[in-house]
Amino acid sequence: MADCLFCKIVRKEIPAKVAYEDHEVLAFDDINPAAPVHVLVIPRKHVATLNDLAPADDAVMGKLYRVAAQVARERGVADSGWRATVNCGRDAHQLVFHVHLHLMAGRAFSWPPG
Ligand code: 5GP
Ligand code: ZN
Repeated sequence: MADCLFCKIVRKEIPAKVAYEDHEVLAFDDINPAAPVHVLVIPRKHVATLNDLAPADDAVMGKLYRVAAQVARERGVADSGWRATVNCGRDAHQLVFHVHLHLMAGRAFSWPPG
């Protein structure tokens, strides 16, 4: 998608601090971290929201979680705990319409989220 912010990060048109990258997935630090560790894990393929997933996306969506766990281990927060969040749509506070998993860690979170 030409105008999608995260597609631009995938294409390296906008810089990001990359934590993991392969042919399907990219992980990079959030520009405005909400926790000491805040990494976004995205499919390289543009999918706007969870509502737009197709069966062909099942494998890569599972991979987002495994890559998040790998990055959590690398950042030393796997054992203390981490949150994996995907916001879908306006009421859930999705602002960037390219599916992304938030890996957040390094502080204690409350539940339910605000
Ligand atoms: P959402 O609210 O859509 O679930 O999350 C979007 C996230 O993208 C926010 O946490 C925001 O800080 C992050 N973000 C927005 N623009 C950029 C950017 O240009 N680079 C990076 N690395 N993160 C961004
Ligand atoms: Zn995109």
